[in-house]
Amino acid sequence: MVSVTQSQQWFARASAVTPGGVNSPVRAFGAVGGTPRVMARGKGPYLYDVDGNEYVDLVCSWGPLLLGHTHPAVIEAVNKAASDGTSFGAASPLETELAEEIVARVEPVDLVRLVSSGTEATMSALRLARAHTERSKIVKFAGCYHGHSDGLLAAAGSGVITLGLPSSPGVPTATTAETVVLPYGDISAVRAVCQSGDIAAIIVEPVPANMGVINPGNFNRELREVCDAHGTLLIMDEVLTGFRLSAAGWFGVEGVAGDLYTFGKVMGGGLPAAAFGGRADIMTKLAPVGPVYQAGTLSGNPLAAAAGLATLRNATAEVYERIDAISATIAKLAETALREAGVPHQLSQAGNLFSIFFADGPVRDFDDAQRQNTAAYAAFFHSMLQQGVYLPPSAYEAWFVSSAHDDQAIDRIATALPKAAQAAAMTR
Ligand SMILES: *Cc1c(COP(=O)(O)O)cnc(C)c1O
Repeated sequence: MVSVTQSQQWFARASAVTPGGVNSPVRAFGAVGGTPRVMARGKGPYLYDVDGNEYVDLVCSWGPLLLGHTHPAVIEAVNKAASDGTSFGAASPLETELAEEIVARVEPVDLVRLVSSGTEATMSALRLARAHTERSKIVKFAGCYHGHSDGLLAAAGSGVITLGLPSSPGVPTATTAETVVLPYGDISAVRAVCQSGDIAAIIVEPVPANMGVINPGNFNRELREVCDAHGTLLIMDEVLTGFRLSAAGWFGVEGVAGDLYTFGKVMGGGLPAAAFGGRADIMTKLAPVGPVYQAGTLSGNPLAAAAGLATLRNATAEVYERIDAISATIAKLAETALREAGVPHQLSQAGNLFSIFFADGPVRDFDDAQRQNTAAYAAFFHSMLQQGVYLPPSAYEAWFVSSAHDDQAIDRIATALPKAAQAAAMTR
């Protein structure tokens, strides 16, 4: 048994001053049970907790760490930026260089505005879409996550065409009434709703990855057609997929253009940076050029811009090839181990993103995803953790790799998997 005394002590201290002891809910291990590990540092593919235990990290800060922990170029860039000043409250070069990098990579993005979180990016993109179309309703899909702003927390809805109900207390019904929630992949439902001509925008994760990973098939192309037919804007939420699935995110893989885009995670290189951008005729409606207000004290922060820029500049073609190869290898190892142990599972992939559903049948939407054996996942998770592999502490998440995951890290995963698969098999 690894010792977790220090983690327990820190978590007790945290719980005395912070609700649930965490600053973002999944970190609390609620879905898998047990004491969360309190992390002290990271290096390459590894995380080290406060007791000194080492883990191969398959969370990678939920996506941002494309190059692994403490990549020398990123740390150097942040140190240099910090020594020049942490914030100016005025225009500065690094933010412009980061914006140039984004615009150069993602063809449908003419102009981009930097913010500090993905939540802010999607919230701002929606405001802009509503102003541009002079319509107020939006469509989102059940199981897609777009941050925690009120209007986007509407997640559930039974039947085909459902007015959103708040999925968190504290979200006014009036707010979510403007959000139509549809089942992911149901293009006839989308057509039926958009017919009315009063939908400002459809917001979608071009590869849903917050209910586990779902391959979009032809859905983005179909959404593009419906949007064009009804003057509805298509917002591609690439906060998770952006600059991870390819140099130009999922757009670079698939080529279906959105009108607006949101980015985050990788583009901040582990510091708080996010963005929204898109067509110039829409983006120029933003203040100070246009009337749509949007602002931020720390937007375009030089440290965050430096980390993001260093990450993107080091995310070469070789890095993407490596990430594709590593994730294919890990996915295959996991699948083999689960098959050999007789654990029902579905490997679900899109580009280099993957997750494993502990389920019998194919997973195409949120309803399917909820038919998982979460107890089996919890057993699997804890066995991996004991053996020094840190998986997402929830069955509904993608497994994230970095270009720093070398053969040694992959060997650790390969060695741990059979025993973990057996632990999962025992839960039935
Ligand atoms: C993580 C995520 C967000 C929210 O980003 P935060 O920086 O956590 O606010 C929004 N959309 C998608 C698709 C995400 O994965």
